[in-house]
Amino acid sequence: MKAIVFHSLGKISVDEVQTPPVLEDSIIVRVKAAAICATDLRIYKGERSAKENVIMGHEFSGEVVNVGSNVKDFEVGDKVAVYPILADGKCDFCLKGFRNRCVNRKTLGIDINGGFSEFFQPLPEMIKLGHIMKLPENVSFEEAALLEPISTVINSLERLNVGLGDNILVVGAGPMGLIHVMLAKYKGASNIIVSDYVDERLKVARELGANYTINPGQEDFTLKVKELSKVFGGINKAILTVGVAGVVEQLLDIVQPQGMISLFAGGGKTFSSNIDLNKIHYKELVLTASQNATPDQFKKGIQLLSSGRFNVGKLITHKFPLEDALDAFNLRSELKALKVLLLP
Ligand SMILES: [Zn+2]
Repeated sequence: MKAIVFHSLGKISVDEVQTPPVLEDSIIVRVKAAAICATDLRIYKGERSAKENVIMGHEFSGEVVNVGSNVKDFEVGDKVAVYPILADGKCDFCLKGFRNRCVNRKTLGIDINGGFSEFFQPLPEMIKLGHIMKLPENVSFEEAALLEPISTVINSLERLNVGLGDNILVVGAGPMGLIHVMLAKYKGASNIIVSDYVDERLKVARELGANYTINPGQEDFTLKVKELSKVFGGINKAILTVGVAGVVEQLLDIVQPQGMISLFAGGGKTFSSNIDLNKIHYKELVLTASQNATPDQFKKGIQLLSSGRFNVGKLITHKFPLEDALDAFNLRSELKALKVLLLP
């Protein structure tokens, strides 16, 4: 079968690899749709490593085409999405429900084989953990390929307890920023301001529910946010969806006392900031972060898509066959594309 394989830092290719054999304790999933994420791009650009010869991809969905004789929970034809973390299920974090923080966690597409391939075979432990999740009939494979990013945004907004009365600033209108806009609106946030340097992305942000947008390349970011948010009492929660450290200093000025700033995005190799801690102290600010999602949040994502009231179709701007994956990576590196799908 064809698969996108990581070989060494900066070296990935579309290879012909062995199709997984039928195992009595596992299943085989025909991958139907997989999405390229910022982490994949970092690996592609050589900014981040992975295990040698691992099949990449951690955002994907597919159809069960083979069920091992010892597996009772699945049938051929089931539609599934994969919660892309292997956890031990027994460490303190796992016991508390935070399998995304498992001390022995392994991530699909980085540490163990992922879904940029024609077929995916989960490790039997993943089936036992419930990390292969069935999809309702009304959730499409393409939407379901976005479940992992959706679930990470659910985690982000739950950590900030976003809801009615919140005035949100989302920094960055890439796919993750836009999902933040959609979900914050869905959860009842009162006002949402979005900033990005790409006007086309800001246009999409407005279409998806942003009340105001700012292009910091054309206007002063801090002044403009303060001006726009004055009518509703200022921003109380700000989320950084792009790994630009310098923005944090500005957010410390922008966010209202007792507000929250969350680092949703990680940075590249250098992601440090010389911030004035007094601004945190004297304003009683909370500086926090979120990474990945729990299985429970992933399941909430499935329910959200199944409700039919959360249309992520607008985020999918391009689709490529698996063999053209490198073109897809190149395109995704440009800021015009939002979510780029591979259809193996
Ligand atoms: Zn654990």
